[in-house]
Amino acid sequence: MASTKGLVLVVEDEPSQMELLSFNLKAEGYDVLRATSGEEGILLFQENEPDLALLDWMLPEMSGLEVCRQIKRSKDKSCHVIMLTARGEEDDKVRGLDMGSDDYIVKPYSVKELMARVRAGMRGRSQNQIGDTLAFGPITMDLSRHTVSVDDQSVAIGPMEFKLLQLLLNAPKRVFSREQLLERLWPENLDVETRTVDVHVGRLRKVLKTATDQEFIKTIRGFGYALDDGK
Ligand code: CA
Repeated sequence: MASTKGLVLVVEDEPSQMELLSFNLKAEGYDVLRATSGEEGILLFQENEPDLALLDWMLPEMSGLEVCRQIKRSKDKSCHVIMLTARGEEDDKVRGLDMGSDDYIVKPYSVKELMARVRAGMRGRSQNQIGDTLAFGPITMDLSRHTVSVDDQSVAIGPMEFKLLQLLLNAPKRVFSREQLLERLWPENLDVETRTVDVHVGRLRKVLKTATDQEFIKTIRGFGYALDDGK
């Protein structure tokens, strides 16, 4: 059998949506596992360990959110999860991300955008990364030289703020909960508290504000943060 670019699990109960997703994924060279219910999705996930899962939020009985939770609780933690949601509410996006989903896309979505997210998810990195450089607006991060610049002026930044900014630059506008930031920034250290996250976010916010004269860190009250220029 010819090798493919990766295995994608699609959990979607609407046949036309399933056809659309399946067709486009196959056209890009992915193998596709199809499930029309959450229960079936979990079984296929356990049997096949896909690289990526596209989960419809609104499914009969078990919701996509519950499927996501179970996937993320499993031993195979490498599966990248993208939620497909008809809901555009910030609260729902946040709930999805809180359940461990890596990304979400709101219906009706453009196939082109969805495929770009799938490719990015498969690579385990962002579409915003070109070579060793991450960029958002005037902010540029050179990963090989470990430097940050704003409008080509270099910016002094602490090691933890650098890691934090790298995480945010990988997914601009995505909302990260404080717990998610904590887990990603201090994966080994169980003693670090969420307010430590706030301290480093505060420092990064100050550095960016001074350098750009603009607010780049958005606070989602009672939840977390996003890199957002408000545009
Ligand atoms: Ca549905």
